[in-house]
Amino acid sequence: MSTEQPDEHVADESEHVLYLYETRKKIYALRFVGFFRKLKKRSGIPLLLGYFLTPWLQIDGRQAIWFDLPERKFHVFWMTFWPQDFMMLAWLLIIAAFGLFTVTVLVGRIWCGFTCPQTVWTMMFMGVERYFEGGRSKRIKLDRSPWNFNKIWRKTGKHGGWLLIALASGFTFVAYFSPVRQLSVELLTFSAHPAAVFWIFLLTAMTYMNAGYLREQVCKYMCPYARFQSVMFDPDTLIVSYDPARGEPRGARKKHADRQAGAVRTGAVGIDTVEAGAAGASALGDCVNCGLCVQVCPVGIDIREGLQSECISCGLCVDVCNAIMEKMDYPKQLISFTTENKLNKGQTQLLRPRLIGYGLGLIAMSALFIYALATRVPLELDIIRDRSMLYRETSRGLIENIYTLRINNMENRTNSYQIEVEGDYPFKFVGDRKINVEGGEVFTHLVRLELDPGLLKAGNTDVNFRITAERDESIFDSEQSRFIGPFRR
Ligand code: SF4
Ligand code: SF4
Repeated sequence: MSTEQPDEHVADESEHVLYLYETRKKIYALRFVGFFRKLKKRSGIPLLLGYFLTPWLQIDGRQAIWFDLPERKFHVFWMTFWPQDFMMLAWLLIIAAFGLFTVTVLVGRIWCGFTCPQTVWTMMFMGVERYFEGGRSKRIKLDRSPWNFNKIWRKTGKHGGWLLIALASGFTFVAYFSPVRQLSVELLTFSAHPAAVFWIFLLTAMTYMNAGYLREQVCKYMCPYARFQSVMFDPDTLIVSYDPARGEPRGARKKHADRQAGAVRTGAVGIDTVEAGAAGASALGDCVNCGLCVQVCPVGIDIREGLQSECISCGLCVDVCNAIMEKMDYPKQLISFTTENKLNKGQTQLLRPRLIGYGLGLIAMSALFIYALATRVPLELDIIRDRSMLYRETSRGLIENIYTLRINNMENRTNSYQIEVEGDYPFKFVGDRKINVEGGEVFTHLVRLELDPGLLKAGNTDVNFRITAERDESIFDSEQSRFIGPFRR
């Protein structure tokens, strides 16, 4: 466990005027390593590695995840999806929404604090900032100091590091849409498509701005999830909360000081204010008013003022407060992950109707998605009747209809398909009944059907085309069309 030296409390507590468009106060977050920061690191690193390395994975000779927009094919590991599979994406989005609702009702904004890309990238940028500019107090001093060589090289190093990460992030994002190896070569030889270059620079700029400058403002003002998550909260949702019954009245004191004696001005742990007054005031609570929970907060709030929509549940204030409690020989968890009911009534109800509802929705949607995925047929047949003429008579006096079959092999392997025709009449099939279609190809095949006109009992009749993969009869598709002839009564 390590921490930087805390310094002055930056927030001016005497300011209570609320301006409509308040100027942003720069947040100099203090770094304190405790349980939740380690957890944050352990959840963030696999996500970052997954994001940056996945485009380099190859499966069956192609990029494992590749959204090929020009060809309208979406390769995800061993499967290839087409625009026709749009329903799958809709299912996935519904599942993600139910997953988010369930997790939010249960454990609050854990997603925000530990896995949201905005949080993970901001933490990475803060690491670069700390590397070049030092800890919190050094950063404050550096920003207040005049421009000199020291300040110039530190700021240049920081922005250079940020730009490199932002560029790598932008490049990686585009690599999900354009094969990464080819894109790398094209960029190095200045032959990349202008659209790819545009998106790389746009995403670089967005990453640089969001993680370097906007940071907590994205969570506060731009993220829609932050706006509506409070609707999903109930008194049994896990939140980061300060226990005012234990902590108040807050005030500085020496370790093992007589709490009835009130607060003192010196000798405590990084204290700059005294709340509880002079000797003879009411007994002090456990909060020593060190202000560290505010200094570590990446969104710059004081959790002692109650649950706020800005809190991303990162738990960093829990870590630092626990360390202070340990130092003071007080019980830990003055600030903790807890629930409103736990604080007020002493217990939390885990299973409640809303959670059960979301959970059941999530299970049902996931089961349907898995079923749809397992029974998905990677083949599609489209029939287009010849529109130039309804029918024609052959030299042998037969009626002929012409059809164009569009066969979409949605697998990544070549398949042989057998074509069959079903209907109320003994149609004569003219053309190849067996065709080979390469993986990912849309094959166009011309077919003629002929019929003795004397057999027709109506002007037109249904005709059903069916194609079946030779290697697996469960891979088939069928499509209905019409056979039109000169019906005479
Ligand atoms: S870190 Fe704990 S003791 Fe210090 S001000 Fe915050 S709540 Fe009080
Ligand atoms: S109040 Fe605590 S949990 Fe909430 S964002 Fe700040 S440090 Fe994280």
